[in-house]
Amino acid sequence: MTKNYGVIIIGSGPAGYTAAIYAARSNLSVLVLQGYEVGGQLMQTSDVENYPGFETGILGPDMMEKFEAQARRFGAELIPEDAIEVDFSKRPFTVKTDTTEYRSRAVIIATGASAKWLGLPSEQQLRGRGVTACATCDGFFFKGKNVAVIGGGDTAMEEAIFLTRYADHVTLIHRRDSFRASKIMQNRAEANPKISFLMNHEVTEVLGNDSMNGLQVRNTKTGAEEKLAMDGLFLAIGHQPNTSLFKGIIEMDETGYIIPTEYTMTNIPGIFVAGDVSDHRYRQAVTAAGEGCRAAIDLERWLEEQGDEVGIENWD
Ligand SMILES: Cc1cc2nc3c(=O)[nH]c(=O)nc-3n(C[C@H](O)[C@H](O)[C@H](O)COP(=O)(O)OP(=O)(O)OC[C@H]3O[C@@H](n4cnc5c(N)ncnc54)[C@H](O)[C@@H]3O)c2cc1C
Repeated sequence: MTKNYGVIIIGSGPAGYTAAIYAARSNLSVLVLQGYEVGGQLMQTSDVENYPGFETGILGPDMMEKFEAQARRFGAELIPEDAIEVDFSKRPFTVKTDTTEYRSRAVIIATGASAKWLGLPSEQQLRGRGVTACATCDGFFFKGKNVAVIGGGDTAMEEAIFLTRYADHVTLIHRRDSFRASKIMQNRAEANPKISFLMNHEVTEVLGNDSMNGLQVRNTKTGAEEKLAMDGLFLAIGHQPNTSLFKGIIEMDETGYIIPTEYTMTNIPGIFVAGDVSDHRYRQAVTAAGEGCRAAIDLERWLEEQGDEVGIENWD
Protein backbone atom coordinates (compact mmCIF):
# COMPACT_ATOMS: atom_id res chain seq x y z
CA MET A 1 0.00 0.00 0.00
CA THR A 2 1.27 3.50 -0.85
CA LYS A 3 0.78 6.34 1.64
CA ASN A 4 0.74 10.01 0.67
CA TYR A 5 2.23 12.95 2.58
CA GLY A 6 2.94 16.60 1.99
CA VAL A 7 6.56 16.07 2.88
CA ILE A 8 8.76 13.14 3.74
CA ILE A 9 11.73 13.96 5.95
CA ILE A 10 14.51 11.41 5.89
CA GLY A 11 16.48 11.44 9.15
CA SER A 12 15.77 12.06 12.82
CA GLY A 13 18.66 14.18 14.05
CA PRO A 14 18.28 17.86 15.01
CA ALA A 15 17.86 18.81 11.32
CA GLY A 16 15.11 16.28 10.56
CA TYR A 17 13.08 16.91 13.72
CA THR A 18 13.31 20.70 13.39
CA ALA A 19 12.18 20.48 9.78
CA ALA A 20 9.30 18.27 10.97
CA ILE A 21 8.23 20.79 13.62
CA TYR A 22 8.19 23.66 11.12
CA ALA A 23 6.55 21.69 8.32
CA ALA A 24 3.86 20.23 10.59
CA ARG A 25 3.09 23.65 12.03
CA SER A 26 2.60 25.00 8.51
CA ASN A 27 -0.19 22.46 8.02
CA LEU A 28 1.71 19.99 5.88
CA SER A 29 1.22 16.29 6.53
CA VAL A 30 4.66 15.13 7.62
CA LEU A 31 6.29 11.73 7.65
CA VAL A 32 9.70 11.41 9.31
CA LEU A 33 11.59 8.29 8.34
CA GLN A 34 13.77 8.27 11.42
CA GLY A 35 16.18 5.62 10.26
CA TYR A 36 17.17 2.67 12.39
CA GLU A 37 19.50 4.96 14.37
CA VAL A 38 16.71 7.07 15.81
CA GLY A 39 17.88 10.46 17.12
CA GLY A 40 21.11 10.64 15.12
CA GLN A 41 24.60 11.46 16.32
CA LEU A 42 23.65 13.02 19.65
CA MET A 43 22.48 9.62 20.86
CA GLN A 44 26.19 8.74 21.08
CA THR A 45 27.17 11.50 23.45
CA SER A 46 26.61 12.41 27.08
CA ASP A 47 26.54 16.11 27.98
CA VAL A 48 25.53 18.70 25.43
CA GLU A 49 26.42 22.06 26.94
CA ASN A 50 26.33 24.35 23.93
CA TYR A 51 22.73 24.04 22.75
CA PRO A 52 20.99 27.29 23.67
CA GLY A 53 18.09 26.99 26.09
CA PHE A 54 19.60 24.30 28.30
CA GLU A 55 21.62 26.48 30.63
CA THR A 56 22.91 23.60 32.77
CA GLY A 57 23.42 21.24 29.81
CA ILE A 58 21.45 18.17 28.83
CA LEU A 59 22.32 14.59 27.92
CA GLY A 60 22.33 14.02 24.14
CA PRO A 61 19.66 11.25 24.22
CA ASP A 62 17.43 13.35 26.53
CA MET A 63 17.68 16.26 24.15
CA MET A 64 16.72 14.12 21.16
CA GLU A 65 13.75 12.75 23.11
CA LYS A 66 12.56 16.34 23.51
CA PHE A 67 13.03 17.06 19.79
CA GLU A 68 11.02 13.94 18.98
CA ALA A 69 8.22 14.78 21.41
CA GLN A 70 7.94 18.28 19.95
CA ALA A 71 7.69 16.93 16.39
CA ARG A 72 5.02 14.45 17.51
CA ARG A 73 3.07 17.17 19.30
CA PHE A 74 2.46 18.97 16.01
CA GLY A 75 1.28 15.81 14.30
CA ALA A 76 4.36 14.53 12.46
CA GLU A 77 4.20 10.77 11.89
CA LEU A 78 7.46 9.09 12.89
CA ILE A 79 8.61 5.72 11.62
CA PRO A 80 11.88 4.17 12.83
CA GLU A 81 12.90 2.72 9.47
CA ASP A 82 15.60 3.47 6.90
CA ALA A 83 14.72 4.76 3.46
CA ILE A 84 16.19 2.14 1.14
CA GLU A 85 15.13 3.37 -2.30
CA VAL A 86 13.97 6.68 -3.75
CA ASP A 87 12.45 7.79 -7.01
CA PHE A 88 12.94 11.52 -7.45
CA SER A 89 12.46 11.48 -11.24
CA LYS A 90 8.89 12.81 -11.06
CA ARG A 91 6.42 14.25 -8.59
CA PRO A 92 4.94 12.88 -6.39
CA PHE A 93 8.28 11.56 -5.19
CA THR A 94 8.52 8.00 -3.92
CA VAL A 95 10.50 6.77 -0.92
CA LYS A 96 10.57 3.10 0.03
CA THR A 97 11.45 1.39 3.28
CA ASP A 98 11.71 -2.37 3.90
CA THR A 99 7.97 -2.50 4.57
CA THR A 100 6.18 0.33 2.80
CA GLU A 101 6.19 2.73 -0.13
CA TYR A 102 5.50 6.39 0.61
CA ARG A 103 4.80 9.30 -1.74
CA SER A 104 5.10 13.02 -1.13
CA ARG A 105 4.97 16.40 -2.82
CA ALA A 106 8.44 17.27 -1.47
CA VAL A 107 11.30 15.66 0.44
CA ILE A 108 13.86 16.92 2.96
CA ILE A 109 17.06 14.91 3.18
CA ALA A 110 18.52 15.13 6.70
CA THR A 111 20.49 11.90 6.86
CA GLY A 112 23.50 13.42 8.64
CA ALA A 113 27.05 12.25 8.56
CA SER A 114 29.04 9.71 10.50
CA ALA A 115 32.42 10.39 12.05
CA LYS A 116 35.07 7.93 10.96
CA TRP A 117 36.47 5.83 13.79
CA LEU A 118 39.54 3.63 14.02
CA GLY A 119 37.38 0.54 14.47
CA LEU A 120 38.95 -0.69 17.72
CA PRO A 121 36.59 -2.38 20.22
CA SER A 122 38.25 -0.45 23.09
CA GLU A 123 37.66 2.82 21.23
CA GLN A 124 33.93 2.05 20.97
CA GLN A 125 33.73 0.99 24.65
CA LEU A 126 35.23 4.29 25.78
CA ARG A 127 33.28 6.52 23.41
CA GLY A 128 31.91 9.43 25.42
CA ARG A 129 34.24 8.50 28.28
CA GLY A 130 37.38 10.11 26.94
CA VAL A 131 37.05 9.16 23.29
CA THR A 132 35.23 11.54 20.99
CA ALA A 133 35.12 12.83 17.44
CA CYS A 134 34.14 16.44 18.09
CA ALA A 135 36.59 18.95 19.57
CA THR A 136 34.14 21.87 19.34
CA CYS A 137 31.59 19.83 21.30
CA ASP A 138 33.78 18.16 23.91
CA GLY A 139 37.02 20.18 24.20
CA PHE A 140 35.62 22.07 27.19
CA PHE A 141 35.52 18.84 29.24
CA PHE A 142 39.30 18.45 28.97
CA LYS A 143 40.50 21.49 30.90
CA GLY A 144 44.01 20.92 32.24
CA LYS A 145 44.19 17.41 30.70
CA ASN A 146 46.50 15.58 28.35
CA VAL A 147 44.83 14.71 25.07
CA ALA A 148 45.71 13.18 21.72
CA VAL A 149 44.36 14.05 18.29
CA ILE A 150 44.52 11.53 15.46
CA GLY A 151 44.68 12.68 11.88
CA GLY A 152 46.88 14.35 9.34
CA GLY A 153 44.67 16.87 7.56
CA ASP A 154 43.60 20.45 8.18
CA THR A 155 40.82 19.33 10.55
CA ALA A 156 43.34 17.53 12.77
CA MET A 157 45.52 20.68 12.90
CA GLU A 158 42.52 22.91 13.61
CA GLU A 159 41.23 20.62 16.34
CA ALA A 160 44.67 20.30 17.96
CA ILE A 161 45.09 24.08 18.01
CA PHE A 162 41.54 24.55 19.32
CA LEU A 163 42.12 22.01 22.10
CA THR A 164 45.16 23.89 23.42
CA ARG A 165 42.66 26.43 24.81
CA TYR A 166 41.64 23.79 27.36
CA ALA A 167 44.15 20.96 27.51
CA ASP A 168 47.56 21.22 29.14
CA HIS A 169 49.07 19.33 26.26
CA VAL A 170 47.96 17.99 22.90
CA THR A 171 49.77 15.17 21.09
CA LEU A 172 49.02 14.92 17.39
CA ILE A 173 49.41 11.30 16.31
CA HIS A 174 49.78 10.48 12.63
CA ARG A 175 50.57 7.14 11.01
CA ARG A 176 52.68 8.63 8.19
CA ASP A 177 55.86 10.72 8.22
CA SER A 178 54.22 13.77 6.67
CA PHE A 179 50.88 15.54 6.93
CA ARG A 180 48.39 16.12 4.19
CA ALA A 181 47.31 19.36 5.91
CA SER A 182 48.05 22.70 4.27
CA LYS A 183 51.44 24.22 5.07
CA ILE A 184 49.85 27.20 6.79
CA MET A 185 47.88 24.99 9.21
CA GLN A 186 50.92 22.82 9.89
CA ASN A 187 53.01 25.92 10.63
CA ARG A 188 50.39 27.16 13.08
CA ALA A 189 50.29 23.84 14.88
CA GLU A 190 54.08 23.55 14.95
CA ALA A 191 54.40 27.04 16.40
CA ASN A 192 52.07 26.16 19.28
CA PRO A 193 54.16 25.20 22.35
CA LYS A 194 51.32 23.05 23.74
CA ILE A 195 51.32 20.71 20.72
CA SER A 196 53.77 17.88 20.11
CA PHE A 197 53.83 15.45 17.17
CA LEU A 198 54.09 11.69 17.14
CA MET A 199 54.69 10.74 13.52
CA ASN A 200 54.74 7.21 12.10
CA HIS A 201 52.55 5.96 14.93
CA GLU A 202 49.09 4.44 15.08
CA VAL A 203 46.82 3.73 18.01
CA THR A 204 46.36 0.01 18.60
CA GLU A 205 44.35 0.19 21.85
CA VAL A 206 42.53 2.72 23.97
CA LEU A 207 43.28 1.97 27.62
CA GLY A 208 40.97 2.35 30.61
CA ASN A 209 37.90 0.81 32.22
CA ASP A 210 35.33 3.40 33.28
CA SER A 211 37.11 6.18 31.49
CA MET A 212 40.09 6.40 29.23
CA ASN A 213 43.50 6.75 30.85
CA GLY A 214 45.96 5.97 28.10
CA LEU A 215 46.76 4.80 24.60
CA GLN A 216 48.78 1.95 23.24
CA VAL A 217 50.57 3.05 20.09
CA ARG A 218 52.66 1.24 17.49
CA ASN A 219 55.53 2.66 15.48
CA THR A 220 54.47 2.01 11.88
CA LYS A 221 58.13 1.74 10.77
CA THR A 222 59.62 -0.47 13.51
CA GLY A 223 56.50 -2.17 14.91
CA ALA A 224 57.56 -1.22 18.44
CA GLU A 225 54.66 -0.68 20.84
CA GLU A 226 54.46 1.70 23.80
CA LYS A 227 51.88 3.03 26.25
CA LEU A 228 51.11 6.74 26.63
CA ALA A 229 49.26 8.21 29.60
CA MET A 230 46.39 10.22 28.09
CA ASP A 231 43.04 11.55 29.32
CA GLY A 232 41.32 12.08 25.99
CA LEU A 233 41.36 10.97 22.38
CA PHE A 234 39.94 13.11 19.57
CA LEU A 235 39.42 11.42 16.21
CA ALA A 236 39.94 13.82 13.31
CA ILE A 237 40.13 11.38 10.43
CA GLY A 238 37.08 12.64 8.61
CA HIS A 239 33.33 12.25 8.32
CA GLN A 240 31.24 10.29 5.86
CA PRO A 241 27.96 11.91 4.80
CA ASN A 242 25.11 9.37 4.69
CA THR A 243 24.29 9.82 1.02
CA SER A 244 24.89 6.47 -0.67
CA LEU A 245 21.13 6.20 -1.27
CA PHE A 246 21.19 9.36 -3.39
CA LYS A 247 24.32 8.66 -5.48
CA GLY A 248 23.74 9.38 -9.13
CA ILE A 249 20.44 11.06 -8.28
CA ILE A 250 21.35 14.24 -6.41
CA GLU A 251 24.32 16.52 -6.99
CA MET A 252 27.10 15.95 -4.45
CA ASP A 253 30.68 17.07 -3.99
CA GLU A 254 33.56 14.60 -4.40
CA THR A 255 33.24 13.36 -0.80
CA GLY A 256 29.50 12.81 -1.03
CA TYR A 257 28.12 15.93 0.68
CA ILE A 258 24.91 17.11 -0.99
CA ILE A 259 25.25 20.56 -2.53
CA PRO A 260 22.18 22.79 -2.32
CA THR A 261 21.72 24.88 -5.44
CA GLU A 262 19.15 27.46 -4.34
CA TYR A 263 18.92 28.15 -0.58
CA THR A 264 18.33 24.62 0.78
CA MET A 265 16.94 23.12 -2.43
CA THR A 266 19.05 20.55 -4.25
CA ASN A 267 19.47 20.30 -8.01
CA ILE A 268 16.10 18.49 -8.08
CA PRO A 269 13.24 20.96 -7.53
CA GLY A 270 11.19 19.82 -4.55
CA ILE A 271 14.05 17.94 -2.86
CA PHE A 272 15.64 19.90 -0.01
CA VAL A 273 18.60 19.19 2.24
CA ALA A 274 19.46 20.10 5.84
CA GLY A 275 22.12 19.46 8.46
CA ASP A 276 25.43 17.61 8.48
CA VAL A 277 24.61 15.78 5.25
CA SER A 278 25.40 19.01 3.42
CA ASP A 279 27.71 20.65 5.97
CA HIS A 280 31.31 19.63 6.46
CA ARG A 281 32.20 22.92 8.11
CA TYR A 282 30.06 23.60 11.21
CA ARG A 283 28.69 20.14 12.15
CA GLN A 284 26.77 21.29 15.23
CA ALA A 285 23.32 20.47 16.55
CA VAL A 286 22.30 24.10 16.53
CA THR A 287 23.37 24.66 12.92
CA ALA A 288 21.68 21.41 11.85
CA ALA A 289 18.46 22.49 13.58
CA GLY A 290 18.73 25.91 11.91
CA GLU A 291 19.10 24.23 8.54
CA GLY A 292 16.07 22.06 9.23
CA CYS A 293 14.07 25.22 9.85
CA ARG A 294 15.36 26.82 6.65
CA ALA A 295 14.58 23.73 4.58
CA ALA A 296 11.00 23.53 5.88
CA ILE A 297 10.38 27.22 5.15
CA ASP A 298 11.97 26.95 1.68
CA LEU A 299 9.86 23.88 0.96
CA GLU A 300 6.62 25.49 2.05
CA ARG A 301 7.29 28.55 -0.13
CA TRP A 302 8.26 26.35 -3.06
CA LEU A 303 5.03 24.34 -2.77
CA GLU A 304 3.06 27.57 -2.75
CA GLU A 305 4.88 28.72 -5.88
CA GLN A 306 3.89 25.43 -7.54
CA GLY A 307 0.25 26.16 -6.69
CA ASP A 308 0.08 23.05 -4.49
CA GLU A 309 -2.69 23.14 -1.96
CA VAL A 310 -0.85 22.61 1.30
CA GLY A 311 -2.68 20.30 3.70
CA ILE A 312 -4.57 18.28 1.09
CA GLU A 313 -3.10 14.92 0.13
CA ASN A 314 -5.89 13.37 -1.92
CA TRP A 315 -3.96 13.21 -5.18
CA ASP A 316 -4.53 9.54 -5.82
C1 LIG B 1 30.26 12.18 19.88
C2 LIG B 1 29.58 13.41 19.37
C3 LIG B 1 29.31 14.46 20.24
C4 LIG B 1 28.69 15.60 19.76
N1 LIG B 1 28.44 16.60 20.65
C5 LIG B 1 27.81 17.73 20.21
C6 LIG B 1 27.55 18.80 21.11
O1 LIG B 1 27.86 18.72 22.30
N2 LIG B 1 26.95 19.90 20.60
C7 LIG B 1 26.61 20.03 19.27
O2 LIG B 1 26.05 21.05 18.88
N3 LIG B 1 26.88 19.03 18.40
C8 LIG B 1 27.47 17.90 18.84
N4 LIG B 1 27.77 16.90 17.95
C9 LIG B 1 27.44 17.10 16.53
C10 LIG B 1 25.94 16.87 16.30
O3 LIG B 1 25.59 15.64 16.83
C11 LIG B 1 25.63 16.93 14.81
O4 LIG B 1 26.09 18.13 14.25
C12 LIG B 1 24.13 16.83 14.58
O5 LIG B 1 23.62 15.67 15.19
C13 LIG B 1 23.80 16.80 13.08
O6 LIG B 1 22.43 16.67 12.96
P1 LIG B 1 21.74 16.09 11.64
O7 LIG B 1 20.29 16.14 11.93
O8 LIG B 1 22.25 16.79 10.47
O9 LIG B 1 22.24 14.60 11.50
P2 LIG B 1 22.41 13.32 12.49
O10 LIG B 1 22.34 13.70 13.93
O11 LIG B 1 23.62 12.68 11.97
O12 LIG B 1 21.13 12.47 12.16
C14 LIG B 1 20.98 11.83 10.92
C15 LIG B 1 19.77 10.94 10.97
O13 LIG B 1 19.54 10.39 9.69
C16 LIG B 1 19.18 9.03 9.82
N5 LIG B 1 19.44 8.34 8.55
C17 LIG B 1 20.61 8.14 7.90
N6 LIG B 1 20.41 7.43 6.77
C18 LIG B 1 19.06 7.21 6.70
C19 LIG B 1 18.21 6.54 5.77
N7 LIG B 1 18.67 5.93 4.69
N8 LIG B 1 16.87 6.50 6.03
C20 LIG B 1 16.35 7.10 7.14
N9 LIG B 1 17.12 7.75 8.04
C21 LIG B 1 18.45 7.80 7.82
C22 LIG B 1 19.99 8.54 11.00
O14 LIG B 1 19.39 7.38 11.54
C23 LIG B 1 19.86 9.75 11.92
O15 LIG B 1 18.67 9.67 12.64
C24 LIG B 1 28.35 15.72 18.39
C25 LIG B 1 28.62 14.67 17.51
C26 LIG B 1 29.21 13.52 17.99
C27 LIG B 1 29.48 12.38 17.05
